[in-house]
Amino acid sequence: MPLYRDEAVVLRTHKLGEADRIITLLTRQHGRVRAVAKGVRRTTSRWGSRLEPFNHVDLQLAEGRSLDVITQAETLDPFHARLGLDYDRYTAGTVMLETAERLVTEEKEPAVQQFLLLVGGLRAMSGAEHPAKQVLDSYLLRSLAVAGYAPSFDHCVQCGVEGPHRFFNPSAGGVLCASDKLPGSATPAGETVLLLGALLVGDWPVVHAAEPRHLREASNLVSAYLAWHLERGLRSMAYVER
Ligand SMILES: [Zn+2]
Repeated sequence: MPLYRDEAVVLRTHKLGEADRIITLLTRQHGRVRAVAKGVRRTTSRWGSRLEPFNHVDLQLAEGRSLDVITQAETLDPFHARLGLDYDRYTAGTVMLETAERLVTEEKEPAVQQFLLLVGGLRAMSGAEHPAKQVLDSYLLRSLAVAGYAPSFDHCVQCGVEGPHRFFNPSAGGVLCASDKLPGSATPAGETVLLLGALLVGDWPVVHAAEPRHLREASNLVSAYLAWHLERGLRSMAYVER
């Protein structure tokens, strides 16, 4: 079987037979890959713990007929152990993994930007510099943008006129001016719209200066925007307090 190396984030694992696991990975060069890790559920396994969700790993894989087989795994960033210490960061991180899996739809189609965004997002989530909820919101907006659903928070999505605009509609793809507003649009505070733009580009000083009510409002709009673009909601989102 031909061998290849790649680095990856472990998105999900599930049991296979007596001792094996199927590992869903977002790799740097091969996009989403499902691979078998043999014998990792035996207590004598030396590397089973490296293949836990969140971990950033360096892998050697053998190409199989249906699923590839992981033949070596080294830990690059032990995000699983770090996030496991903090419930808020762990649950928000779980939403990131589920989002990445849902937005990278094809197996073995390279998705380098999504991979880099996820590694950067997990690094921020496992650090203490930024609050968990805003790391999540920023990640969700950016991963949606990479997937082709970039929201507009400054120009009206209908006519292109520069804002500030106070009508936001997930189905339209962002903010709308007063003449183009759709029925049922949200009318967030002006500060919230600016905050959403800051989360999209990672302008952290603006995020850190924001008031709690604007942070909450922004989180709700990000959730609505994400839900609109995914066919089914995210199971893991239920555990994140919004
Ligand atoms: Zn307009």
